[in-house]
Amino acid sequence: MSDYDFDLFTIGAGSGGVRASRVASAHGAKVAVAEEYRVGGTCVIRGCVPKKMLVYGAHFAEDLEDAKQFGWDLEGEPSFDWIRLRDTVLGDVDRLNGLYTETLENHDVTIFHERAEITGEHEITLASGKVVTAKYILIATGAQPAVLDFPGSDLAITSNEAFHLDELPKRVMIAGGGYIANEFAGIFNEFGSKVCIVNRGDKLLRSYDEGLSDRLLKISLMKGIQFHFNTTFKSITKNDDGSLHVEMNGSEDMDVDVVMFATGRNPNVSGLGLDTVGVEQGKIGEILVDEYSKTNVDHIYAVGDVTNRVQLTPVAIREGQAFADTVFNDDPKTVSYDHIPSAVFSHPPISAVGMTEGEARNKLGNIKVFQSDFRPMKNVVAGRNERGLYKVIVDAATDKVVGIHMIGPESAEIMQGFAVAVKAGLTKADFDATVAIHPSMAEELVLLK
Ligand SMILES: Cc1cc2nc3c(=O)[nH]c(=O)nc-3n(C[C@H](O)[C@H](O)[C@H](O)COP(=O)(O)OP(=O)(O)OC[C@H]3O[C@@H](n4cnc5c(N)ncnc54)[C@H](O)[C@@H]3O)c2cc1C
Repeated sequence: MSDYDFDLFTIGAGSGGVRASRVASAHGAKVAVAEEYRVGGTCVIRGCVPKKMLVYGAHFAEDLEDAKQFGWDLEGEPSFDWIRLRDTVLGDVDRLNGLYTETLENHDVTIFHERAEITGEHEITLASGKVVTAKYILIATGAQPAVLDFPGSDLAITSNEAFHLDELPKRVMIAGGGYIANEFAGIFNEFGSKVCIVNRGDKLLRSYDEGLSDRLLKISLMKGIQFHFNTTFKSITKNDDGSLHVEMNGSEDMDVDVVMFATGRNPNVSGLGLDTVGVEQGKIGEILVDEYSKTNVDHIYAVGDVTNRVQLTPVAIREGQAFADTVFNDDPKTVSYDHIPSAVFSHPPISAVGMTEGEARNKLGNIKVFQSDFRPMKNVVAGRNERGLYKVIVDAATDKVVGIHMIGPESAEIMQGFAVAVKAGLTKADFDATVAIHPSMAEELVLLK
């Protein structure tokens, strides 16, 4: 009989917490999880999943326009109903929330639908005042949008609120230059909003290959998205008609309907009681862990965005799985952070795996860069003047493909398979030896000369 109420208490039922809890339970542990908002966490409730549904919805704007060239006549001007899409998306989020809850319940995980705080070595206090004890504590509290601080900044929204808007804004200003900023700029722009991105620097998507971010900028400008680089906020005030007046350093004042911050995500650590037990944190509050996701306190672990290693759902899930196998199945596992593929679901999407050209030059010196700059067949027929760009980076000494970078239709779907090849360490010769699928866009990657 354990001296504790639970073998494992997980704080946060998001991507990492749900996986860790259900696997630990399957390994025989008595598990509880606390969730202060909705089971499923950021990705399912207000991140990847509803965002991707909006991306699908948005892309119809182009598909409907292009359909004419493919012989389709649509009667009258197509119109778009934001509330219908919003409610379809939120309905599916409810369904997924139910499925994740069911999964935990089917694995005999006790769910506390309330906030939790660590109040002692092995003690957790819930918002209701209930106190429980656990042998191990897993912190899987994720991250939250970073909010800028200037007069009137409370009038802005973040991605959390963007999914719930009661009407489609006519004019949207998005602060930031990362993937969330570019994805939402694309979404609102396709729906017909006038969109501008305000960025304090002069680069978009800093961790991506410059060739791709430059191409996205060019295409986004062509689509009508405005960019204000090297610009910071002074203030936001409300106009009499409810719209917002934005004063900036580096750009002219603007009136918009919505300002959305997409300026990064900070680890969710406030009020968690980390000081009570002396859990070490890094510069932005992230929880510091070893390769097994263990903090400096022997029985406290942390996975996912709260550790600020790589803020992506599949990574949080792997960390949760590795933690549960290590601690509750006597099967020590670590997560490999090499060659993690990623995507930006912009219009068109970007995807990447491995080193950018710049990183490869710095790290390896002697590299070969193969590139295809092409107009996809569908765009040619549609009369859409939008070019794709694929780059393959090869280590000249070993012939190994060390990076692939793409912008173009379906590039995220194409990348998943090619990421296997890069992760496996295949060479350019292996790519060349692979017969193309013709006609396809993906074939460009095995035909590069
Ligand atoms: C708009 C947006 C788009 C995204 N798109 C993608 C994408 O396309 N692909 C991708 O891989 N990733 C994407 N992400 C990132 C992805 O959502 C996260 O990396 C992932 O959810 C991290 O999982 P996690 O388990 O660490 O935390 P989360 O999923 O954030 O879960 C943490 C949970 O803990 C709860 N919690 C926090 N504190 C407490 C407390 N004290 N007590 C109880 N509960 C608490 C929170 O309510 C939350 O539900 C996106 C994120 C956003 C915001």
